[in-house]
Amino acid sequence: MKLITCMHTQSRCYGVKRKPAKPVGIVVHSTGANNPSIKRWSQPSDNDPKRGELLKLIGTNTYGNHWNRADVSKAVHYVIGKLADGNVATVQNLPEDIACWGSGSGKKGSYNYDPVAHIQFEICEDNLWGESYFKAVYKEATELCADICYRHGWDASVIVSHKEAHAKGYGSNHADIDHWLKNFKLTMKDFRAEVQKLLDEMNKPVEPEKVTLYAVTVGNLEKEAADALIKDLSDRFSDVSGWASVDHCVSV
Ligand SMILES: [Zn+2]
Repeated sequence: MKLITCMHTQSRCYGVKRKPAKPVGIVVHSTGANNPSIKRWSQPSDNDPKRGELLKLIGTNTYGNHWNRADVSKAVHYVIGKLADGNVATVQNLPEDIACWGSGSGKKGSYNYDPVAHIQFEICEDNLWGESYFKAVYKEATELCADICYRHGWDASVIVSHKEAHAKGYGSNHADIDHWLKNFKLTMKDFRAEVQKLLDEMNKPVEPEKVTLYAVTVGNLEKEAADALIKDLSDRFSDVSGWASVDHCVSV
């Protein structure tokens, strides 16, 4: 995963209307427009100290229709799509502890807000049939989800699509991203399984290097006698390295 930070501080969601969030899951969206460029949605703030650098990376939205504006009612934590150089990356637009404006509301409430706030991201759609682009964004999205789950101590079961959020009663009636996955014979079940696979790998305990420690303690040997014993032991057990004398002890 390639992660770039470009906070949308000019968005009302980030600024005047900001609501804190304690997220409990993830909602995956796709944009619903044939435009794989991140610059369509994400642009640096005017006062971003890295503005020049970010514009070079993301590209410049010459239409002024991005989401880092006060009059836009959409805001998500991350956007996945193409950078200016055509490579796929993830751009973060909101801190994870700010409620986003992504899923809308369903009959039970909204995954945007506590107590069911979710971290949400958009994947920029192409025409929904480009296989190499799909593979690249699918990989990026599963890696982003694994990273989020890992940091929050979640398993992949907390991930839903916008469509599933609606079915559960916490989002507006949208088809994303299941409609796109379907074109490649995948479902959200496959998506979650892939994230879980990555997570299991990340959570695997690191095996400590096996070291066999030998210690030989001898009685009140003079230094000379101890050194002679070390030499004798070193010669006889040449596969053991690190014999050393510590005062009257001989140990490795
Ligand atoms: Zn959506």
